[in-house]
Amino acid sequence: MELTVVKNATCTFCGCVCDDIELHADHRRIVHTKAACVLGASWFKNHTAERLYPEALIDGREATVDEAVEAAAHYLHDAALPLVYGLSNITCEAQREAISLAELIGGVVDSHTSL
Ligand code: SF4
Repeated sequence: MELTVVKNATCTFCGCVCDDIELHADHRRIVHTKAACVLGASWFKNHTAERLYPEALIDGREATVDEAVEAAAHYLHDAALPLVYGLSNITCEAQREAISLAELIGGVVDSHTSL
């Protein structure tokens, strides 16, 4: 199978934004990464053009986005110390909204890089 090669691809996984990565892809997924660290390689290889997941899950069951937002609001309201976690792979605007939400609900913020 012929592979598509993309040079100087940018990884946005952790925030370092490495921009010298070479990607090899078949028609569905990235099968090889060159110069990406283990996190970046995993991130690239596990993202495909196909839709693998539903728009939202509640307790492992498929849900609409509206249902998920409603459920999240209940969890956050009931939490003693809400944690706003993640924030990688999202835009600066979305991070700003997440920080505002944490301030609004008296929560704390952490990113996956604390691992
Ligand atoms: S996850 Fe690795 S390859 Fe991706 S930006 Fe961070 S250090 Fe670079």
